Amino acid sequence: MECVFCRIVAGELPSDTLYQDDEVMAFRDINPLAPTHVLIIPKRHINSLAALADDETAIIGHMGRVANQLARQEGIASSGYRLVVSSGENGGQVVPHLHMHLLGGRRLSDRLC
Ligand code: AMP
Ligand code: ZN
Repeated sequence: MECVFCRIVAGELPSDTLYQDDEVMAFRDINPLAPTHVLIIPKRHINSLAALADDETAIIGHMGRVANQLARQEGIASSGYRLVVSSGENGGQVVPHLHMHLLGGRRLSDRLC
């Protein structure tokens, strides 16, 4: 298995895991860009947002719900936060396993990119 996030799901690589259920897992980004930087991923391998089939889109809602729950847990729900999903090369996606970044704990750039 080559996918780094699949290896985290399988317990082959360590992670600072904050949440998991049957469908998704959330762990702290190894290279945090903000005081709170958490990745929310589907446990099942999906390459990217672009690769998501029409009948799989419910996973995005599930990931968003987990992100909101973690934002409350991290104490950033009222100060604000940003959810980012990069897809493909121009989107800046580096790890080819669908993931959502939860970023907060400081004022983020006013520019989206
Ligand atoms: P992206 O650029 O959207 O593909 O984001 C990939 C993210 O995964 C980056 O922010 C990396 O710091 C993070 N990352 C890569 N490997 C690991 C790992 N083993 N544990 C936690 N985060 C990781
Ligand atoms: Zn994977």
